[in-house]
Amino acid sequence: MAEKLKLMIQAGNPLISIETSDEQRALELVQKVSELITRPVFHWSLTEGLTKRPQYENRSSHSQNPEIILRTSTAIDVLKLLLKEPEKGIFVFKDLAPHCKDAHVHRLIRDLLGICEQNKMTLILVDSTTLPDEISRFTVRYELGWPDVEELEQVVRETYQRIKQESYVEINANLKHKEMDQLVQSLRGLSCAEAARVVASAIYDDYNLSAADLPKIIEGKRQLLSNAGCLESIAADFSSEDIGGLTNLKSWLKQRRGGFTRKAREFGLEPPRGVLMLGVPGCGKSLCAKVVAADWGMPLLRLDPGVLYQKFIGESESQLRQALRQAESMAPVVLWIDEIEKAFASAGASSSDGGLSRRMFGTLLSWMQDHRHPIFIVATANDISALPPELMRKGRFDEVFFVDLPDEQAREQILSIHLSRRKQEPDQFDLPRLAKLSKDFSGSELEQAVISALFTAYQSETPLNSGHIEAEMKKSRPLAILSGEKVAQLRQWAEKRCVKAD
Ligand code: ATP
Repeated sequence: MAEKLKLMIQAGNPLISIETSDEQRALELVQKVSELITRPVFHWSLTEGLTKRPQYENRSSHSQNPEIILRTSTAIDVLKLLLKEPEKGIFVFKDLAPHCKDAHVHRLIRDLLGICEQNKMTLILVDSTTLPDEISRFTVRYELGWPDVEELEQVVRETYQRIKQESYVEINANLKHKEMDQLVQSLRGLSCAEAARVVASAIYDDYNLSAADLPKIIEGKRQLLSNAGCLESIAADFSSEDIGGLTNLKSWLKQRRGGFTRKAREFGLEPPRGVLMLGVPGCGKSLCAKVVAADWGMPLLRLDPGVLYQKFIGESESQLRQALRQAESMAPVVLWIDEIEKAFASAGASSSDGGLSRRMFGTLLSWMQDHRHPIFIVATANDISALPPELMRKGRFDEVFFVDLPDEQAREQILSIHLSRRKQEPDQFDLPRLAKLSKDFSGSELEQAVISALFTAYQSETPLNSGHIEAEMKKSRPLAILSGEKVAQLRQWAEKRCVKAD
């Protein structure tokens, strides 16, 4: 990692950008490189101005204080100073992105670029947001990526040592080699600072670090992921027996199981890339994503592209890139992109968002094409009219499936699954009749009929019977009837473009 940045600096690149939310890690990397090539490091931020860092800085030593350079509190002050008195060194700017829109700052940076090389001066912009186009076109990007297992193991050890030294109570650790590996694996996809926080809270919980902390760490990570970005770690405790119907889809997925193994590669197989599932709402698309993850023994990450627009106004693109890198760092994983049409809808039509959805869509497509990580994508969509045609082109996904309403046989299976799940004996019910009666019901509507019937039976203090379920079915109007035209259109559209899931 340090080697690549070192080469970029030695090659004379005047302006390097590192986009990351893990600022500390970026700063440590720069420090390491500066020691390798013996160049001084300066930091600038709006709150601290310009400071010259002590030469051998590390996480635990605070023996030397940074040297404050006066009259450099604004970006303009510091850039002017560098222009007037250039100095050999690496100048790290923290969060300069918002200032780059200022014409004065922009001009000063461009003026500086011309004198950097001859003075052995490198500017490194460390930002948590994307740089404006005007500046980013003059930068070379350094991809910091996510911490690897060695770095994470180091974080675990350092966190433990730090707490042990600071604590008044006795702290113990008893982790076998294999358990340590598991712990470190479960931290993948977190920044060093986040990993340290999760480990610290697991230690403080019982003043101990042991295999018993693993579930706490996994839960801590799940919460961090759901608070921080647009990736959510989803519990996937289903098996293919939990899906009724969808036989084609299930056997396709079963065939691809093990496709990421070395054995498959040596046999000449390309690793599977992903499926797109289109179809009627409530017919088991999301359920399939969970089953694939559980069946293939891979963690499931859900990317909700809609959140990219709602939660990260102005940062959608960089958040998407970060989410994809985060997924890479956690691979092998199943990446479930839920309702993909919601995020990239206007990428197909003439854009009304200043080209944002088109750029996001482009980022996703090129990532799908280029990445070489064991990541299986399960994308789901309900509204085909909103899907940009490029997404459907051959080669993007290994297959595009159409998930229709369940037929009579599948309905029987679905009813049986949901009865068993609720402590009922399916043999005691007239499933063929119930399946006949529930034409046009989706899987989730069949499940709802069972749940409502169970409530009725509970209230009347009688065991659940077919009559209760029949009554519920007669009461409800399935969505496919309410929006029959839409379903018919969907079917017609899918006829020539998709493979039937059942
Ligand atoms: P949406 O597009 O609205 O998200 P979906 O197609 O992804 O819908 P699911 O979320 O998977 O549908 O279905 C909702 C619930 O309905 C599931 O959690 C499951 O309990 C039940 N269900 C749907 N289809 C099936 C099925 N084929 N077999 C068993 N259960 C099903």
